[in-house]
Amino acid sequence: MASACSVRVRGVVQGVGFRPFVYRLAHAYHLTGWVLNAEEGVEIRLEGRSEDLASFVRDLEAQPPAAACIAAIEVKPEEPVGLLQFEIRESGQGEAPTVRISPDLALCDDCRRELFDPGDRRYHYPYINCTNCGPRYTVILALPYDRARTTMKDWSLDRDCETEYRDPGNRRFHAEPIACPACGPGYRLELAGETLSGDVAIRRAVELLRNGGIVAIKGLGGYHLACDALSSSAVNQLRERKYRKEKPFALMAGDLAAARRIVRLSSAHEELLASVARPIVLAPAIEEIPGVAPDNHELGVMLPYTPLQCLLFDAGAPLILVMTSGNRSSEPIAYEDEDARLRLSGLADAFLVGERPIARRVEDSVVRAGTFGPAILRRARGYAPGAVATLPIDRPLLAVGADLKNTVTLVVKGQAFVSQHVGDLEHYPALLAFQQTIQDLISMYEVSWDDLVLVHDAHPQYLSTTHALTLPAADKRAVQHHRAHIASVLAERGAWEKPVLGVSWDGTGYGDDGAIWGGEFFVGSIREGFERVAHLRPAALPGGDRAALYPVQAAAGFLGQIDQLPSLHQAPFHFPSPYQDALQIVRRNVRTFPTTSVGRLFDTAAALLGFTRQITFEGQAAMWLEHLAHSSADVQPYPFPFHGRQLDFRPLLLALALDRVRGRATSEIARAFQRGVAHGLCDAVTGLTSAHGLDTVVLSGGVFQNQLLLADIQSLLPPSLAIWTNHAVPANDGGISLGQAALGAFMIVAIV
Ligand code: ZN
Ligand code: FE
Repeated sequence: MASACSVRVRGVVQGVGFRPFVYRLAHAYHLTGWVLNAEEGVEIRLEGRSEDLASFVRDLEAQPPAAACIAAIEVKPEEPVGLLQFEIRESGQGEAPTVRISPDLALCDDCRRELFDPGDRRYHYPYINCTNCGPRYTVILALPYDRARTTMKDWSLDRDCETEYRDPGNRRFHAEPIACPACGPGYRLELAGETLSGDVAIRRAVELLRNGGIVAIKGLGGYHLACDALSSSAVNQLRERKYRKEKPFALMAGDLAAARRIVRLSSAHEELLASVARPIVLAPAIEEIPGVAPDNHELGVMLPYTPLQCLLFDAGAPLILVMTSGNRSSEPIAYEDEDARLRLSGLADAFLVGERPIARRVEDSVVRAGTFGPAILRRARGYAPGAVATLPIDRPLLAVGADLKNTVTLVVKGQAFVSQHVGDLEHYPALLAFQQTIQDLISMYEVSWDDLVLVHDAHPQYLSTTHALTLPAADKRAVQHHRAHIASVLAERGAWEKPVLGVSWDGTGYGDDGAIWGGEFFVGSIREGFERVAHLRPAALPGGDRAALYPVQAAAGFLGQIDQLPSLHQAPFHFPSPYQDALQIVRRNVRTFPTTSVGRLFDTAAALLGFTRQITFEGQAAMWLEHLAHSSADVQPYPFPFHGRQLDFRPLLLALALDRVRGRATSEIARAFQRGVAHGLCDAVTGLTSAHGLDTVVLSGGVFQNQLLLADIQSLLPPSLAIWTNHAVPANDGGISLGQAALGAFMIVAIV
């Protein structure tokens, strides 16, 4: 008795080996019919015995390809028409460019097995891949996704690869980057006066790494600089050459066992480490590795994700490698060979160069198994350009993000595609990368400027704003920075109407009144907009945003308001002279801006606890403070009272300064400060949610990357209050473009 049904699968189901998987599954259950890639996912038609149809659907749901992410499966009964075989149909009318582009995928188990099988024709071949793994976003030049529009276009398939590519039962059926040693690109090692290829190149690179050398290695989305992480001379050498004084280096462990020797891993950590995205995972360090992550209790570790990286470890590379972006400090990662040779020549002792070009720069992603679940700190390889939300807007919309940790979001047919991490736009190469990323997304999704809604930050001097204003879009809207943070969380959940209390805490953003905001409370929803209902007590910021570089400079505006302070020039504070200069500037009220920034409040606390030098990377003082507090036992919080719609920092900082004079352990002081901040926040949240009749609080902004603070907040807020945080995009400014897109979409919807 034949039955029939149609199955529609939505989500990330294209370019991830879904059709061959369906083909094999249909064969396993003796079903006939077809599968094809349609505009909104994969469509399947099946005929056979009804119990086999049910088994098919069950398996489809239970064990899809590792890289697929099924959003929905819809099954409808159909009339059987007597189909005789099962086939993979070519899609009609070309695949629409709104089809989700798969992010890059880590080497799969099947390919790994072949990579190390001496009998396999791809034995030790660094560009092995299949429909379940390999490059996607980093090789795509244009849509629809097929080989002629990838960076593999110049290598034509040999007979064996061609056969695999055409065989629906094969794991490499339509694997666009398919290649083998006979017909595909290769790798070579370039070092002074010599070029090596094949296994010899790998062995020589390994030898260099074992002897403390630094090797530039071409990866999926750019070049890495690698060295032995346990060789402090190699690590120091790399810091010196890279002009990277203190910012932590990412590590790559040869396997999970090696990772477990350096960081404490929960099951949540291990799941993230082994996921197809293979991000850098932050986890508690078991012991400090000299020079790798100074003043930090966590290490960032990832597992190998390209065949080449696996080959290096297999050939005996040190089991823990530093794997940091191939750049000098704060430049974007190098991804073109010539540029890499030029920019990294003084940094690397040798270059391991692959012939396959990289279509666009994509750095490693960074995630943490956070208090409220996985939290992404940098969203790039393995995640970008996946769609993170569906917005109720038909017109295309481009949101250009913020100037720090920039990302851009393009909305096409309602799907919000968030770009990879671009960087800090004040650095000229990052600004160019920003412009390039916009062009890239616009042309890939074939969006026309005439119809485009463009959304930018409200800051008139942001480089992203000034660039946006030069673009030929039809409609332009400004969105306030801290509202965008809150909207980013709500957009992830598709919560357009939900009224919430939004707590938006970060280092800096342009406020409605032109002041530097960063400690804001809002009430409202994406549809209705957000009203500012409370904030940190304002301080003066001498030098404006430049004060972020120098904690004592930021401190002047906060501490200048406190009368009974001990002298800060003497022990134990030893504030350097720029503090006095900053105080003068504040008193004379020149080049001074009002601020409600919680980021600067943390800087002030860090300065009082001994961080009186200049920072060398953004957020350093706050990280230092969190690290310091980490080793302390539980302590009583310092007072941080909430009254008159303001959180008053004066008692908080005074208590801190007095304890410091008394000689209390700095770790305890740092802990009491952060507990005080958490208590103050929770008092404000409980008061405001009950005053406005709200049951949900949203936390976003860079301050909420602080795990200690989040853990305290979680334990302090009543369970009746739902706490929403970011998961798909960063809580830092990397999430701003998504929030802008959501608020911008509703500005347009409201008008139409
Ligand atoms: Zn594979
Ligand atoms: Fe921000």
